[in-house]
Amino acid sequence: MRRDAEPYQRRPGRVDPVAGPGADGPVLYDAVLLDRDGTLVEDVPYNGDPGKVRPVPGARAALDRLRAAGLRLGVVTNQSGLARGLFTAAQLRAVNARVEELLGPFDTWQFCPHDERAGCACRKPAPGMVHAAARSLGTTPQRCVLVGDIGADMTAAGAAGAAGVLVPTSTTRPAEVAAAPHVVADLPAAVDLILSRAALVAGPAPRRAGTVLVVRSDSAGDVLVTGPAVRAVAAHAARVVLLCGPRGRDAGSLLPGVAELIEWPLPWIDGDPAPVDPRDIDRLTERLRAVHADEAVVFTSFHQSALPLALLLRMAGIPRVSAVSDEYPGSLLDVRHRVPDGLPEPERALSLAAAAGFALPADDDPRLRIRTDRLPPAPAGLGGPGYVVLHPGSAVPTRAVPPELAARIVRVLTAAGHRVAVTGGPDETALTAHVAGDTGVDLGGRTGLADLAAVLAGAGALVVGNTGPAHLAAALGVPVVSLFAPTVPYGQWGPYRVPAVRLGDAAAPCRDTRATVCPVPGHPCLAAVEPGRVLDAVRLLGVPADPPRAGLTPTAGGPDVAAPVAAGRGSAR
Ligand SMILES: [Zn+2]
Repeated sequence: MRRDAEPYQRRPGRVDPVAGPGADGPVLYDAVLLDRDGTLVEDVPYNGDPGKVRPVPGARAALDRLRAAGLRLGVVTNQSGLARGLFTAAQLRAVNARVEELLGPFDTWQFCPHDERAGCACRKPAPGMVHAAARSLGTTPQRCVLVGDIGADMTAAGAAGAAGVLVPTSTTRPAEVAAAPHVVADLPAAVDLILSRAALVAGPAPRRAGTVLVVRSDSAGDVLVTGPAVRAVAAHAARVVLLCGPRGRDAGSLLPGVAELIEWPLPWIDGDPAPVDPRDIDRLTERLRAVHADEAVVFTSFHQSALPLALLLRMAGIPRVSAVSDEYPGSLLDVRHRVPDGLPEPERALSLAAAAGFALPADDDPRLRIRTDRLPPAPAGLGGPGYVVLHPGSAVPTRAVPPELAARIVRVLTAAGHRVAVTGGPDETALTAHVAGDTGVDLGGRTGLADLAAVLAGAGALVVGNTGPAHLAAALGVPVVSLFAPTVPYGQWGPYRVPAVRLGDAAAPCRDTRATVCPVPGHPCLAAVEPGRVLDAVRLLGVPADPPRAGLTPTAGGPDVAAPVAAGRGSAR
């Protein structure tokens, strides 16, 4: 029943696009991986009896819709009953055969036969089976989405760089539901979400354009997550000019596809705006007129309005303007795009670009990217690649790593044999010195955005809050340990298409408040994270520690060092 050995006859690294009509748009996913027990079939603990296999409602039709869309399907399932002697390999094969008989064929089966004592790389929450499934399907984890019913499924997906969709059952813990990037009610709804997200970035047939002004004001992170959409526009335009704010300028200058950059603060976007100055607005309008753009695409977050700028673009004579707007735009917009809540920000932007006629070409993977040819050399003193970077600060206090926790994380990681570099801006040197302590390398004050990217490029992983550097790491393909305060949704703002482990209390009272200063004394959603969990996460992401050196005595077992096994669910599976 294993189909892994079948010759792979399509383009390497790519399966049939699941895009809409044109089938020339970006390919969000090549494959959907599914947990077995509790997701595809009702959970019968340690089931060795094919007669007890019961699909969840609507499973066959839902899976057939994925197959019809050209997606390949795989199963990734923990089967510790083998190690525990509760069923035989023959019984497992019989149960899996019955699953296929009822639900149709799967293109790969991955199961972990071990129990939690084995410390294997395959048992979820470890990402080994996601890697193996992607490999056997000729794709990468970043082009897979995993559907499962418990937190271990979501952790395994995230740690591999795959998307995750949680379909909770009555036994799923509330904390696991809160932490999941996306949550839906049942398997058919998970399929709806996967197919609708793919359709949203496909758009109508792409068109050619001359000079296009793209706009993304706000911070470096906002600009970076808009990068795939900017590349989509650039693929079909003769020239792309980016308008961004002062905080996004450095990120904008690293985006592929941008020919020219205009920096201008927009008082209806900035978090700490100056009063509106009519002369400044006049100057901006003239500057926009001088671009001689044939059209403009205005990217925003869901809480920002594109309409004030759309008016200026009209006054600057730009004939075609596209933006997301729930508010009635009158004649300000030619393409008024609407998107559902909860999309990852890069996909939200990609869907606007596609609606404007600029779908990302199928040969450009929709991940974040920056121009690494524009990076300075990394600072000396870091040794070879593979160190861990800890970036404790953030312009928004709720999104920073609490300083005491950050200092403890450095001690725990260095004690376990990791080299740790601590980064921060010129106004954070006291913070980085404190956090680096005696064992970390303090790079505070030396790292502008391009310098930080140069440091990150050699990193094995980045430990960071929900702030710009997380997206910079994603753009470099560097795994992220995300200490993510739940003030905004992780599924929208978490690191995109890069291996990541989320830590912190996702159900804390600050959830979805968008608070910039934590409303709960002590910022417990992050401050309560055990540093040992960060070490576990670094291991889960596959970052090896350096071999012990003379003079350095790792203090494993010290007060801050947690058990070395990635915390899984206490589930019996
Ligand atoms: Zn295993």
